[in-house]
Amino acid sequence: MEYLSTRTPNHRVSLSVALQKGLAPDGGLYVPERFPDLGPEAFEGYTTIEGVAERLLRPFAEGDVLADALPSICRATYGFPVPLRAVGRGTHVLELFHGPTAAFKDVGARFLADSLAQLNEGADQPLTILVATSGDTGAAVAAAFWKKSNVEVVVLYPKGKVSDRQEKQLTGWSDNVQTVAVRGVFDDCQALVKQAFQDATWQEHRRLSSANSINIGRLLPQMTYYAHASLQHWRTHGTRPNVIVPSGNLGNGLACLYARACGLPIGEVVLATNENRPVTHFLATGDYEAFETEETLATAMDVGDPSNMERLRYHYPSAEALRDAIAAERVADAQIEEQIRRGPDAWDTVWDPHTATAVEARERLDPDDAHDWILVATAHPAKFPEVVEPLVGHVVDVPEPLADVMARSHPVPEIEPTLDALWTVVGGAEAPTTS
Ligand SMILES: *Cc1c(COP(=O)(O)O)cnc(C)c1O
Repeated sequence: MEYLSTRTPNHRVSLSVALQKGLAPDGGLYVPERFPDLGPEAFEGYTTIEGVAERLLRPFAEGDVLADALPSICRATYGFPVPLRAVGRGTHVLELFHGPTAAFKDVGARFLADSLAQLNEGADQPLTILVATSGDTGAAVAAAFWKKSNVEVVVLYPKGKVSDRQEKQLTGWSDNVQTVAVRGVFDDCQALVKQAFQDATWQEHRRLSSANSINIGRLLPQMTYYAHASLQHWRTHGTRPNVIVPSGNLGNGLACLYARACGLPIGEVVLATNENRPVTHFLATGDYEAFETEETLATAMDVGDPSNMERLRYHYPSAEALRDAIAAERVADAQIEEQIRRGPDAWDTVWDPHTATAVEARERLDPDDAHDWILVATAHPAKFPEVVEPLVGHVVDVPEPLADVMARSHPVPEIEPTLDALWTVVGGAEAPTTS
């Protein structure tokens, strides 16, 4: 299997090159050249999520140096459960929040971390991953790469602009993971990463890579939980479940479409968004337009110009083709709050603000709708206590893996948003520290 750039389809690379580069040289995103034909029959005898993952991803790694390592990478990716839980009215919740940082981004980050560690085994110089984060991605990446050999991670976050709980998830790391608090906003962090990639000194002294959500190495593993859940449903009920995916940058929703394109028994795919309107606007009008990002209660979905839109439009070139493939529902903050408030009574569940958008989309269906629906739970509600606890009226217990991550403590340097300041810190020289 080769991967091609959305902008230059005859630019083709292997899986491991696509993983290490992240972005194609022409600025495009890597997409698989084709989708293998893998109906439920192809998975006979595969029941665990690690096994299903290995079977599904095998053609995607075919011919690549990572092919032999794939089973061990799939085992390293999971190691935590991904239950599909029935909550009544033909509705099932796919809980993607049992990993170390209690959100679905753990899956992609752990797959990418193990793949890059394997690829850099025995390299003279470690690979340096630079990540700018507004909160959750950085934590998932830090946790995933921690103690992997031959890979170093530098996580930049805006000091004072993330929640206390997010900060605790970002600042406990040591060894090969260095977190840096930047006196600025998220855009300053992102600008620093971009500058480093273009700077001669950095290029000379570091092998740089990124781990952001446009990396195909985060998308491919995300197909695997859709594969596992839909097969489980198919084997029990003999039907194709429809799926509702809380969406922002569209990586998770695209992974679901990819799994369906491979032949997995998935019915309709509905993207649930918050107030940000690029997806619903595009589906309604057929004209893609980027919008200013709006701040909502589902912060990890606050995206005005989703980067994976480029992949979606590549696979479904016309608005009509896209409308055949997906639907979308836009959910306001008041509706998110309402679904969280009534969650314990209506569904016997405490929802997080992101998952609540999918619940609202489910509630908007015709009451006579007889299909089975999978709601994708992207995060544990304990990640967002400021929003959730006042609405449900009680404290939400922090799951153990997340509590372990937050219990770690390590001093974090604080810098002005300049490349020189970052270099001083990452280069190993003394720097003032906080906390
Ligand atoms: C990142 C994130 C999303 C959005 O996922 P995309 O792949 O960007 O669409 C939804 N929920 C949570 C909790 C997230 O962290």
